Amino acid sequence: LIARLAALLLMAVGAAQAYYHFIRYADREGQRIALVQKFDLSALPVKTIRYYIADPGPERLAANDSLSSLLSQIRLAARQWDEVESSELRVRYGGRIDPGSLPEDTPAIEVLFDELPPGLLALGGPVTVADPPAGAAFLPIQRSQIVLPNDFTSFPSFAESTYLTMVHEFGHALGLQHTLTSSVMATQLTRAVTKGQALAADDIAGVSILYPTRTFQTSLGAISGRVTQGGAGVVLASVTALSPAGLAVSALTGPDGAYRIAGLPPASYQVYVQPLPPAQTGESSPGNIVLPLDPDRRPIQPSAAFETQFFPNARELSGAGAIPVTAGSTVENVNFSVTARREPMRLYNVSTFGFPAQVAVRPAPINVNGTRNFFVATGQGLLTAANQPVTGLRASVAGGATTVTAIGTYSPGYLRFDLGFSPDSGEGGRHLVLSTAAETYIQPNAFRLTARQPPAITELARAGDGSVTILGSNIDSRTAILFDGVRALPQTAEEGRLTVIPPPGANSHRAAVVAINPDGQSSLSVQGDSPSTYLYDNPDSPSFALSPNAIAPGTETVVEVTGTGTAFQEGWTALQFSSPHIAVKRSWVLSPTRLLAQIAISPSASGAVAATVTSGLRSATIPNALVLGAEISSASPRLTVAPLAVNPLNGIAFGAPGGQVVFLFPGGIPQVSLAGRTVDVAALGDGIYSVRVPADFPTGPAILRVSQGGNAAVPIVVQIQEAGRIALEAGRTFAAGDTVELAVIGFSELASLLTRPRVTVVVAGVEHPARIVSGTSIEFVLLPSVPAGTQTISVIVDGRPSLGTSITLR
Ligand SMILES: [Zn+2]
Repeated sequence: LIARLAALLLMAVGAAQAYYHFIRYADREGQRIALVQKFDLSALPVKTIRYYIADPGPERLAANDSLSSLLSQIRLAARQWDEVESSELRVRYGGRIDPGSLPEDTPAIEVLFDELPPGLLALGGPVTVADPPAGAAFLPIQRSQIVLPNDFTSFPSFAESTYLTMVHEFGHALGLQHTLTSSVMATQLTRAVTKGQALAADDIAGVSILYPTRTFQTSLGAISGRVTQGGAGVVLASVTALSPAGLAVSALTGPDGAYRIAGLPPASYQVYVQPLPPAQTGESSPGNIVLPLDPDRRPIQPSAAFETQFFPNARELSGAGAIPVTAGSTVENVNFSVTARREPMRLYNVSTFGFPAQVAVRPAPINVNGTRNFFVATGQGLLTAANQPVTGLRASVAGGATTVTAIGTYSPGYLRFDLGFSPDSGEGGRHLVLSTAAETYIQPNAFRLTARQPPAITELARAGDGSVTILGSNIDSRTAILFDGVRALPQTAEEGRLTVIPPPGANSHRAAVVAINPDGQSSLSVQGDSPSTYLYDNPDSPSFALSPNAIAPGTETVVEVTGTGTAFQEGWTALQFSSPHIAVKRSWVLSPTRLLAQIAISPSASGAVAATVTSGLRSATIPNALVLGAEISSASPRLTVAPLAVNPLNGIAFGAPGGQVVFLFPGGIPQVSLAGRTVDVAALGDGIYSVRVPADFPTGPAILRVSQGGNAAVPIVVQIQEAGRIALEAGRTFAAGDTVELAVIGFSELASLLTRPRVTVVVAGVEHPARIVSGTSIEFVLLPSVPAGTQTISVIVDGRPSLGTSITLR
């Protein structure tokens, strides 16, 4: 069958809509095009959207919960989207604001607290979109909102469900709709992700289609086709590509029945089409999808429900063909001709639970080495009124290595599914196929196979040096320890014992301490609603000072934060201002009491703003920390330094010891100092100057001060970094598909335990996503689009390229 399919399918590179976003159709030059709602990257400083959290926070919190705890979880939820490597959009915390005070012309996400209808935990999505820029096929989002409840009494901030809802709402705010793949963008009924693995392949594809990096285009593949019934296009059919290893990525068809599933990691996929489930109580449309609008802004309705079908033309999973997807290409003409349903859709929205310990856990984890080889499920169409499985109910698992051995009754409203494993069952999400004589329903990632039990914390032991040792089972060096929404800094580990430095917290703050393993399981699977807690006991009250404290609007410059009693730490500490007119482009922690930040102030800023330093679970604010006044600019004529080489990821100038920094400066030859050292200046003409960085200059951020004739320009930060290098095993040759490990030198950021640098490998101009193996080593998979022969290879870490070297491809 595979050979026949391969002959049938045309391979090509294509570009069209995919996944499912908020869409309005428009007619342009006789063609109907889909306009998706998304943030306009070109209008965002360093491609960063900021979110602002309303001050005050919610009126009521769960027992023993605190606002600091909740805020930390909101920031962690946003960070999930910030860290998607195949998306260019950065998502950063802007600070706390008065609700409604954001200027309309600043694209931003507002997180608000309000009364919500009963049963609704949150809402989110774009609220203001602008007209499309000339020729652009999208509607720029000006404002998105996330509305969280004023009453968090039944939603503790540490709970996985609270957290995943916040991740979900941030997804809506960025432009994503619901999907049927059980990813974080699935509705709560079928969502089957965990805090440890909050984003699934479908979520990553959805956001990356809106804001793609070049590696998204080159390293992933796509499947496209059309769904028809009697020759006519089927509207809003859900087409999903499944890999037995647990990937599921989907798209909805457009008004002509066409679809495109993008963002598929190279693998073999089975593809099926399924109608949207009927609207449930509280939902206004099938699948709870915001319907696309036609050019007259009328909603486009989905086609009537049809029979589920696997490609090519099979009713059962066993008849599904395998479609091989390769990097950078699209498998086209994966077409479906579906038939109308004789009966309404009865089987859908299945929720599953597992029992690793005394607590029911969703999505169901099943330890293949344990004794509880079953999950229980509830959902539409599973049970009869007498609590028996519906007549003829059958279940199978995609991939075949795991089988459903029995379906039986459990407690009222629930069925029990027993599973059988083979040595190939592996780990990860598994797809469940349910069928009766009348219909077939697929629930991607209905349950998760694990090889061991969830982590469990039995004791927190404090040491005199401020460290805390987490004692328990299934805890080791790969376990992440969260204090509320902030990751603790790992120190030493052995099986069952992990020592960490807790993030800073205010005196008497109570943090929920949760262990999360790489398989996505958390200690809450054992401890449920009663996580371990850590009570902070540090009566010192930290404070800080900001310098300078008056800056002219329209300026980009550096500010310095000096703390007293603070514990600044990269990855924990950030500076915010109470005005969206000030963007913190980058900050650097120089010591536990010293932080530098490069800030850009918009020309329309005015007045006095507060500055907040957030460090872990603690924050301190200085009201009126910075005065933004036009009088400042009239008092001293402003001179600016415009560096010619800046890091595209953060907009910061850079240079290497022994290298040069080149900048534009209005006026005659200036005097220049770098971190207080006078440096030689050369005039290159047209107001361009270059300074040489002394060869012995220390690496790190350095303040560049430029003055001329007694007038000083506003200082800026230059990042001084060694030129990074890479090393390959001598004499080895490689082929497409090979995993290549590279030794990297001069990129100390790779060793950071709390921040995640973005790493790309460039071979013959083709960008490859890369994985960090250690502080001195990365690995990547060679893409087929790299031509054979000796090619140049380099690595880019957080926007900073290494020197090139050679790689030989067979
Ligand atoms: Zn939603």
